Amino acid sequence: MAHILVTGGAGYIGSHACKALERAGYIPVTYDNLVTGWQDAVKFGPFEQGDLNDRSRLDEVFAKYQPAAVMHFAALSQVGEAMSQPGRYWANNVGGSLTLIEAAVAAGCLDFVFSSTCATYGEHDNVVLDENTTQLPLNAYGASKRGVENILRDFEMAYGLRSVIFRYFNVAGADPEAEVGEFHQPETHLVPLMLDAIDGKRDALTVFGTDYDTPDGTCIRDYVHVCDLVDAHVLGLKWLEEGKGSEVFNLGTGTGFSVMEVIEQSRTVTNREVPYSIGPRRAGDCTKLVSGSNRATTELGWTPTRSTMQQMIADAWRWHQTGHYDR
Ligand code: UDP
Repeated sequence: MAHILVTGGAGYIGSHACKALERAGYIPVTYDNLVTGWQDAVKFGPFEQGDLNDRSRLDEVFAKYQPAAVMHFAALSQVGEAMSQPGRYWANNVGGSLTLIEAAVAAGCLDFVFSSTCATYGEHDNVVLDENTTQLPLNAYGASKRGVENILRDFEMAYGLRSVIFRYFNVAGADPEAEVGEFHQPETHLVPLMLDAIDGKRDALTVFGTDYDTPDGTCIRDYVHVCDLVDAHVLGLKWLEEGKGSEVFNLGTGTGFSVMEVIEQSRTVTNREVPYSIGPRRAGDCTKLVSGSNRATTELGWTPTRSTMQQMIADAWRWHQTGHYDR
């Protein structure tokens, strides 16, 4: 069975990816520094603690497992923090990824699946966001991810590194079996903050701005169930194995939900009121991010089956109620 090096395998998306990889017959090797990840989320393969910037540790892990491919999830991913501490984003997301990519090439591991983001597109009025949309990131998070995309292209030309780049829209939900789920510390994402507010574990949710140019004035996002998202990664791995070459895929459903719509759906699913107040805009937020592409469906054969807002909230709520949040 082939080993796959999963950076960030102790995090939200990475841990779900490890479960999907194990089910698909691979051995996921988690490489994580545990700064934002959780060791108890590593359940589906070996764990190697290490930092992306630690080249000798990476060399050791590549030599030990000789992975067939890398899935690179590990990154700092908070837009607000990226605005106030951009240097951390460039050092960790770009510097760390460069070290990882160099280690992969040196080890002869030339298939690479990368977590990028729709935040690389930035603000576009009335433009369908497909993979050819100009990338004009509004914040250091999006800029750092675009930087890594550029490194991957350069390394393909120089060393033959093949990459599948996934530009995620908003990821939500949890493993329906609640073995893993979403837990960030600090938490900044809409769905978990809202579930905490419903449950009285946090103060009321603050809605960041109601003066955007959208029907109800709140930002619109395209939400994808984390299990659908990681299924695309397994397909991306097979795409590389079949020698289909480097490609970029948006991962979104094409349906947008405003913050107020997500609140309303949560009220319906949980049958509980969502305490919230209206606050100012959050720096770095785009008005609307919705995928206008179905390349992942037509070319990769990806069919999101769980990405209704109801199912995402129901699965996140089930995970929430397991008490994993009470760390
Ligand atoms: N949001 C909000 N209150 C919060 C957290 C998020 O109103 O406490 C909004 C945010 O402005 C954005 C949407 O919810 O429009 C999704 O934000 P999140 O941080 O979950 O993901 P992002 O879109 O930044 O990747």
